[in-house]
Amino acid sequence: MKKIHNNNKCTGCGACYNICPKGAITIKGDELGFYKPFINEDKCINCGLCEKICPLDKYKSQNVEQPKILAFQNNDKEILFKCASGGVFAKLADYVIKQNGIAYGVIYDENMIVSHSRTDNLIDLEKMYSSKYVQSDTRNTFTQTKEDLESGKLVLYSGTPCQIAGLKSYLQKDYENLITVDLVCHGVPSPLVFEKYKQEFMAKLPATEKLLNIDFRSKVEGWKEELVTTTITTTTTTHAKLDNFMRAFLHNLSLNKSCTQCQFNKLPRVADLTIADFWGVDDFDKSLNDDKGISIILINNMKGRYLLEHLPKECFLAEVPLAVAIKYNKNICGTSTAHKNYIEFSQEIAGDKTLRDCIKKYDKKPVYKILYHMLPKFIKNFIKYEILKMEK
Ligand SMILES: Cc1cc2nc3c(=O)[nH]c(=O)nc-3n(C[C@H](O)[C@H](O)[C@H](O)COP(=O)(O)OP(=O)(O)OC[C@H]3O[C@@H](n4cnc5c(N)ncnc54)[C@H](O)[C@@H]3O)c2cc1C
Ligand code: SF4
Ligand code: SF4
Ligand code: SF4
Repeated sequence: MKKIHNNNKCTGCGACYNICPKGAITIKGDELGFYKPFINEDKCINCGLCEKICPLDKYKSQNVEQPKILAFQNNDKEILFKCASGGVFAKLADYVIKQNGIAYGVIYDENMIVSHSRTDNLIDLEKMYSSKYVQSDTRNTFTQTKEDLESGKLVLYSGTPCQIAGLKSYLQKDYENLITVDLVCHGVPSPLVFEKYKQEFMAKLPATEKLLNIDFRSKVEGWKEELVTTTITTTTTTHAKLDNFMRAFLHNLSLNKSCTQCQFNKLPRVADLTIADFWGVDDFDKSLNDDKGISIILINNMKGRYLLEHLPKECFLAEVPLAVAIKYNKNICGTSTAHKNYIEFSQEIAGDKTLRDCIKKYDKKPVYKILYHMLPKFIKNFIKYEILKMEK
């Protein structure tokens, strides 16, 4: 099968798959397990559309270079609890759906595969809450979005910056009724490493158990505690720093090659609005942080600003200078630097090595750090307090 674009740069956004008039393109895992397009030459008529709409090396954002930034917290505490940070996406989508509009976002499907999905109702919207730290399969959502836009519906589409660039290139024109939201993006692990993680977790359990949910940003002990909860019939909680999947993610072992040379996660941003965690809130204004989660929203253009005017005023906590936001969240204007062994890690994951073995090999941790994360929260707080006292 021939390739559309240099494999190292291709983000797997799916624009080419959605545009192909002959259904000649399939999106599936490449040799390292990341989604990439593959062309069936028997079906291809060489029309060139896939290359034409690919956003790589040609996408240019028209947004402002220095966006205004607002701190945000959803005023519905039950919803806020289920979201990764301040529940901005949930509030935006709630508004759009109540206008008889459509929201697109990322869910775990019935097989716990991470993919984009469409909804017109608040019940299914809940599946889109929170971060699934895995490359998402956009499937045919660009085609569906176009149909919704053409029928005059208000549409909210959220995703990584490369996916938003892919959607915009695919659409080939601006639609008044489309609002896009991108995430400040650390980079994505492959669906393959996620598959191994799920299998290793389930291997310890009776075959009758079914994996129902993984929350990589569980707030059961607060926003800052960084816990992962895994739900079968019961729910298990692990500290992110002890969880093999999150260790690979946070230490940039499981990054896609395209993320290391990303063209989209930068200023000016791709979407109308950009959402992120408000890391650094304690240094900015500690009184804002109730440990329930706060986001920042980057307002990248007039359309983004207009939409925010429709959200409840009490959700907006403060204006945050761009320099402050960037100081604590470098991914606002660039992506993560890959671990020096990230290629070997992905190759071994794609081979017969387990995730556990790869983590042992490439993410060595001092024992005291591992023990610290196993301590109850009140002891950790006491240790932090004593360290602060010594520093004063
Ligand atoms: C892969 C990834 C990397 C991220 N890196 C950073 C970072 O470096 N710094 C930072 O501040 N924030 C990062 N975020 C965003 C952060 O985790 C929160 O999503 C953000 O703060 C918004 O939180 P929220 O509470 O408003 O919404 P939430 O309810 O948490 O957000 C849900 C939104 O995220 C989208 N989403 C979930 N999983 C995916 C996925 N796999 N691919 C595309 N979209 C997805 C959903 O469609 C929905 O729009 C990242 C998110 C993802 C998915
Ligand atoms: S359109 Fe997206 S998936 Fe297709 S080749 Fe370009 S970057 Fe890759
Ligand atoms: S050249 Fe045309 S027919 Fe061939 S894969 Fe690309 S879009 Fe499809
Ligand atoms: S870092 Fe760039 S290429 Fe990777 S998922 Fe994020 S936006 Fe896409």
